[in-house]
Amino acid sequence: MTPHVEPDPQAGAAVKAADRAHVFHSWSAQGLIDPLAVAGAEGSYFWDYDGNRYLDFTSGLVYTNIGYQHPRVVAAIQEQAAKLTTFAPAFAIDVRSEAARLIAERTPGDLNKIFFTNGGAEAVENAVRMARLHTGRHKVLSAFRSYHGATSTAINLTGDPRRWASDTGTAGVVRFWAPFLYRSAFYAETEQQECERALQHLEDTIAFEGPQNIAAIVLETVPGTAGIMTPPPGYLAGVRAICDAYGIVFVLDEVMAGFGRTGTWFAAEHFDVVPDLMTFAKGVNSGYVPLGGVAISEEIAATFETRPYPGGLTYSGHPLACAAAVATIQVMEDEKVVEHAARIGETVLGPGLRELAERHPSVGEVRGMGAFWALDLVKNKETREPLVPYNASGAANAPMAAFGAAAKKHGLWPFINMNRTHAVPACNVSEAEAKEGLAALDAALSVADEHT
Ligand code: PMP
Repeated sequence: MTPHVEPDPQAGAAVKAADRAHVFHSWSAQGLIDPLAVAGAEGSYFWDYDGNRYLDFTSGLVYTNIGYQHPRVVAAIQEQAAKLTTFAPAFAIDVRSEAARLIAERTPGDLNKIFFTNGGAEAVENAVRMARLHTGRHKVLSAFRSYHGATSTAINLTGDPRRWASDTGTAGVVRFWAPFLYRSAFYAETEQQECERALQHLEDTIAFEGPQNIAAIVLETVPGTAGIMTPPPGYLAGVRAICDAYGIVFVLDEVMAGFGRTGTWFAAEHFDVVPDLMTFAKGVNSGYVPLGGVAISEEIAATFETRPYPGGLTYSGHPLACAAAVATIQVMEDEKVVEHAARIGETVLGPGLRELAERHPSVGEVRGMGAFWALDLVKNKETREPLVPYNASGAANAPMAAFGAAAKKHGLWPFINMNRTHAVPACNVSEAEAKEGLAALDAALSVADEHT
């Protein structure tokens, strides 16, 4: 694929100057960043104004599950814009109910009602509100090594260090350790030990917080941003049983892991669990128009059958976003994107990444499934010391910066978080593209190896 625009460095410089003057960027020291000026994108690639093309192994922020500019989704947005661009959430709109139906049909169990939001954090905020009102309890348990969004409650539920600066210690939020054998909080040596000890730790946490005070346990089905840490077999079923025993609402956050990313419609399917509430966003419409939501069980929905639900958003279920969702889900069905993601994980990404891990001293562990993979980079495979410390910046982060620069030099845009790189391409990434990405990672890891 070739860039659709001729290189135009002058135009690129103008875009960058305007950006520098007026755009305040997320998660950044404004004066220390140098954002790439992007001229266009298609499928698994994007390109800049200098004519450099990158294979996107980040899927944006892990959301372009069917790649950029899918013509059917673009057309659906255009058609909806011509028909009815916007209408307030209190009204019944064909495209909104159709999106809700298609989502509810794919979510597990009896998660049959959909509350629409504009993204993941708002979905998490509303799931917590629903759980609190449903149970009449106030505490919410969430895991260290998690990401749930950057709004007030969501950032406090989040377990990664980026929350520190804005962590107000929202009343009632309690964090616990979820399983992660490679860096076990429980000194476990096997998956089974990790699972048993993590469940015991959760039980103990509940006992010391008072089960009658706990509204919800919020977990990412497969924690994404914090490292794509697939839970051991039995863990999520164990959490489900604990929630049932104490009348706690089980919230699974599938904002990142949902809509095909793990090779099933939702990651919960791998573990045979059905939560009471499930949050989603990102892949629901490949991020073409902001959309997220909460899928709600019949029991929790019934709580609000005669009692008003005290929460709402101006753009909830926006017709353009819903049209993009309907078209995206249809594309995923017609082009068998979910099955493709499973297969590319099993046959190309998984084996390819494991092979890289064998050859590169900097790769401590490979984890993942589908189009959802993490490489845990280390200074030393034996001690598992991370290649850079948590929250490293400046000189301390030089090894990861060098790795990133090398990947870009080889035409790959990498996802980097702390000491990890995630291979999270579009779920419909082709075999040739996936192999191209593995080759670029191979070259970039040689640079990381220099820091081991
Ligand atoms: N939950 C999870 C699991 C996420 O990965 C994210 C975003 N990375 C969010 C919530 C927040 O979503 P948003 O940025 O759309 O608010």
